Amino acid sequence: MRIDLHTHSFASDGTESPGDLVRAAATAGLDAVALTDHDTTQGWAEAARAAREAGIALVPGIEVSTRTDDGISVHVLGYLFDPAEPALLAELDASRESRVGRARTMVDRLAQDYPITWDDVLAQASEGATIGRPHIADALVANGVVPDRSAAFADLLHSRSRYHVPHYAPHPVEAVRLLRRAGGVAVMAHPFAAQRGRVVADPVVEEMAAAGLAGLEANHRDHDEPARSHALDLANRLGLLVTGSSDYHGTGKPNRLGENLTEPAVLEQIEALASSGTSIVRP
Ligand code: AMP
Ligand code: FE
Ligand code: FE
Ligand code: ZN
Repeated sequence: MRIDLHTHSFASDGTESPGDLVRAAATAGLDAVALTDHDTTQGWAEAARAAREAGIALVPGIEVSTRTDDGISVHVLGYLFDPAEPALLAELDASRESRVGRARTMVDRLAQDYPITWDDVLAQASEGATIGRPHIADALVANGVVPDRSAAFADLLHSRSRYHVPHYAPHPVEAVRLLRRAGGVAVMAHPFAAQRGRVVADPVVEEMAAAGLAGLEANHRDHDEPARSHALDLANRLGLLVTGSSDYHGTGKPNRLGENLTEPAVLEQIEALASSGTSIVRP
């Protein structure tokens, strides 16, 4: 069984439709794929239809953007939760809403030095998508400012860049609580991916675990060997599950579907921990 629990469609910052993503997952030889767009569940229905047709299992999911009190960005994967649970829905709406104003401010700042307009950014995002820095990156690429997304993130869009602006995001412990309250299962995404910016110290993960965090995504390309073994040790010490995934973004990133995988027994435990009406879509 080949299981990949973290991918993005163009409902957020991936480059393929949810249906195309699921078909690509089947072609890549996966038996199960989770759709985990940033702060939205918009792609679930289309992905579920495509999964039934392609004969692959779909795990409905999300990647919730969160931030600690001292400004460290933390991504929390959520699986098999009720997408209509009001408290969770309100936080996701607030994040997505804030992302628009934040991106506009970043574009205003960038436009003082580079050719870029808000319309250029909107042209890179599908209808209703969660707007993020990758869409700004794609506009910069289209306008010839940088060769690709990676180059944009290395400098102009980095969290330490003078053009960078944060958006509203709940605290990671709150995101875990909200996902649990919605009957879902929370897994901390790429917990120690240091090249993205500062990463949290262990006590934050302990606090998340106390709030009901189920696992750590240790096996991820943004973890070097020390980061990976740190995540494995911490999961072991806190009694957390360990997942692995590609964090596929279509052509937006070099990540390939299935490049890291999750054990079938771990997906079974995730399924057993879920208590919402949302279940794995099986072929
Ligand atoms: P945002 O949520 O708008 O702050 O943007 C963060 C997103 O940018 C992440 O979800 C990643 O998918 C993407 N990202 C971060 N670093 C890179 C990179 N080096 N190359 C391409 N995409 C990146
Ligand atoms: Fe992303
Ligand atoms: Fe992430
Ligand atoms: Zn992701």
